[in-house]
This record gives sequence, structure tokens and C-alpha cells, in this order.
Amino acid sequence: MAAQISEADFEREALSFLEANASPRVEVTQTWGEGSDEVSVLPERTPEEERAELEAAQGWARTRFDAGFGWITGPESLGGRGLPRSYQRLYDGLEGRFDTAPMTPFGIGLGMVAPTILAHATDEVKERYLQSMYRGDIVGCQLFSEPGAGSDLAGLQTRAVRDGDEWIVTGQKVWTSGAQFSDIGEIICRTDPDAPKHKGLTGFVVDMHAPGVEVRPLRQMTGGASFNEVFFTEVRVPDTHRLGDVNGGWTVALTTLMNERAAIGGGSMAGGGSGGTQRLIELVRHQGKAGDALIRQQLAQIIINGRVASYTNLRAMAKIAAGGLPGPEMSIAKMSLTANMQRMGALLASVLGPKLVADGGEWGTFAWSQFVLGIPGMRIAGGTDEILRNIVGERVLGLPKEPVGN
Ligand SMILES: Cc1cc2nc3c(=O)[nH]c(=O)nc-3n(C[C@H](O)[C@H](O)[C@H](O)COP(=O)(O)OP(=O)(O)OC[C@H]3O[C@@H](n4cnc5c(N)ncnc54)[C@H](O)[C@@H]3O)c2cc1C
Repeated sequence: MAAQISEADFEREALSFLEANASPRVEVTQTWGEGSDEVSVLPERTPEEERAELEAAQGWARTRFDAGFGWITGPESLGGRGLPRSYQRLYDGLEGRFDTAPMTPFGIGLGMVAPTILAHATDEVKERYLQSMYRGDIVGCQLFSEPGAGSDLAGLQTRAVRDGDEWIVTGQKVWTSGAQFSDIGEIICRTDPDAPKHKGLTGFVVDMHAPGVEVRPLRQMTGGASFNEVFFTEVRVPDTHRLGDVNGGWTVALTTLMNERAAIGGGSMAGGGSGGTQRLIELVRHQGKAGDALIRQQLAQIIINGRVASYTNLRAMAKIAAGGLPGPEMSIAKMSLTANMQRMGALLASVLGPKLVADGGEWGTFAWSQFVLGIPGMRIAGGTDEILRNIVGERVLGLPKEPVGN
């Protein structure tokens, strides 16, 4: 086996790759009233904009993968670089200094689905999909939630029935982010309806282009349609595409959910998509409210709590970086983040009043409505506020457990 490249040599190699293929990032300091005033939590895209964003992401993913920086920690036998996580962090820090296409369309596929495939799939599936996912050739989505199963995920009803070397999947999933441009999905199905609910589930990798899969976009109150209903009508899935053991799907789902909390806590959502507190301060000034004692109090609370949320998040990320599993810190980090977003919503309502709900054409005012309308989604995705409070109550504060049904 070849000796592992040193961090210093790796850093040199990565820098010369980035210098040859991307431009250094230029920090743009925005002047009030100039340029785009978009402030959103979940950016709204038309299908054309979404396609262009995906193509740009795929272009960069390919360039990066082919140069050896697309899957730094992945096993060499599967096309990865076989290096420790510290090399990935080093590379991420370097890439952050360059202007590269956002990897948003791969967030769920690479953040949650790929690590689950690596942990639980057959060799055939790992070889078939993992390299292509990290190279940006295919996109993955998460098919967990159903109309009657969200927080209570184990109550899901989509059935998979064995038929020789295949399984026949029938049912409905909902809120599937990115299903409209996904090639594969990680689906959890009920395979034993008579077993206790956590013990009758099995995970699979399903081909989103297979006959019987129908994706219907769901329009959000912000105007866009970034998630979908997905219907499965007798979709055939080979047994080789099973994740983990038959009826062992709960363990598979937990692997994905652990990675989901880590991705939300450590990813772009950690910044709250707020466009920065600076923008909020500028707004207060430009609306003539900088001298208002109550508004100043509200603003100070947001800045203090934003700082606390980001430190909690850093603490949780440091634990993961040191080899620990995402634990209750992730729940606390996500709760602090969404609580602060709510404070921002309240401040915006006080400062803007009717300008928040009616577009009078004034730059940087009505644009905040996108942000405010996106906050409820953040309070739900990746574990609702109430569920996270239950986790913290039980696992951190040691309160009695909620009664669990069958
Ligand atoms: C932006 C966004 C993206 C998403 N993307 C995906 C995706 O890609 N794939 C996917 O599978 N799903 C996705 N989801 C769905 C998400 O996982 C679910 O919405 C979430 O798990 C909540 O489930 P639910 O909507 O069924 O609400 P429910 O579970 O029905 O909850 C309804 C209300 O009851 C409360 N509640 C429920 N149980 C308890 C309890 N035990 N104690 C106290 N209160 C309780 C909840 O907090 C909530 O207020 C996404 C959601 C959002 C908002």
C-alpha cells in the first residue's frame, strides 16, 4: 500500500488544483439599495433556475472528483481517496476561499443517503452508485415521511412485498425534497405488518426513473416547489438494493437521521439563511428605528442568541470531528437556531409593519417576507421543535420518557 500523502503535500496539491480551476472568492460588501435584496431560508427557484443550478453543481463536482478531491474520505476500492476526515476539513477550508458552484442540490444525497449506502448497502449497490453520487452524475433523495408518518416515522405504511429476487413497493411518500431531479432514493418500507412497528421496516435504494414511480411537486407558501409527493405503484426493486437486514430498517433510518441532524447543524442552515445580521441592522437604520429602545433590545437579543447558537453548533461539530456521533447537542443547536429565527420574524414585523405583507416596491423591505414565510419549515425539517424538546428533556435533563406506543 502506498504511503499516505502528508497534510502539507495534500494542502499544496489542493491549492494548486483550486487556483487552476476556480477564482478566489471576492467578499462583496453590499450597499443599501443596490443589487438583489433576496433574503430567504429556502431559496425559491423556477424549474429553469433549478436546472441551471444543478448543472453548475454537477460541473464542479466532476472537475473536483476527477482531480481526487470529490470523495476524500471514501474507501479507495470504491473510488474515494481513503484519507482521514482531517484532510476533508482541510480541503473544505481551502475551497471556501474560492468561488465555486454551490453544492446545494447534492445536500441530501451526499449528506444523508450516501453515508447510509456506505454503511448498509450490498457491494453491488455501493459500486454502482457511490462514485457516481460523489462525482455528481446522479442525485439522491430521502423517501421517509408519509402523510400519516413524520415525527412518528416508524408508523409508515408504504409496503414492500417480496417476490422472488425482487420486492414490490406500493405506497406514498411526501415532503421529498429534490425528488424532481433525483435519480435514486433511499426508501423505508413496511415489510412485516404484524411485527411491532419499529421491527417490521426495511430500507431500499430505489431507482426514481423505474416504472410506477410518480413525482408530483408541492407548491409552498413561499411560491416555490422544492419538495414533492412521490407515489409508488407496484415498483420493482431488486433484493440486491436492500439496505441492511430484512426488517432491520429502523437501524438504517437512524443512520440517515443522525447524518441529517449533523448536516442541518453544520450546513448552510446553521447560518439561518438570514443574509446576515448586518442586513437586519441596516434595515433598522434605514427604517428610522435605530433610536427605538424596544427595537434595540430585540436586535441585541437576536445578536446574542445568534452567537450562542453558533457556539453550540461548533461544540456539536467538534464532537463529530473528534469521532463522536451527533447527539443531543445537535438538537439543542437546531432548536436555538430556529428560536432565533422566530425572534428575527418578530423584529421584522415590528420594524416593517405592513411593508412586510404588501410589496410597495421599496428595496430591502417586502423581500423579508420570503425569509419570514420560510421559518415554519425550518421548525419542522429534521425534527420539529416539540420532538427536539422531548429529546433534550429525556436525554439531557433526564426527565421521564414519553409513553411509547407499539
Ligand atoms: C423544508 C422541509 C424539507 C423536508 N424534506 C424531507 C425529505 O427530503 N424527505 C422526507 O422524508 N421528509 C422531509 N420533510 C418532512 C419532515 O421530516 C416532516 O415534516 C417532519 O418529520 C414532521 O412530520 P409531519 O410533517 O408528519 O408532522 P407531525 O409528525 O404530524 O407533527 C405535527 C405536529 O405535532 C407535533 N408532535 C408530533 N409528535 C409529537 C410528540 N411525540 N410530542 C409532542 N409533539 C408532537 C409536532 O411537533 C408538530 O407540531 C421535510 C420537511 C420540511 C419542512
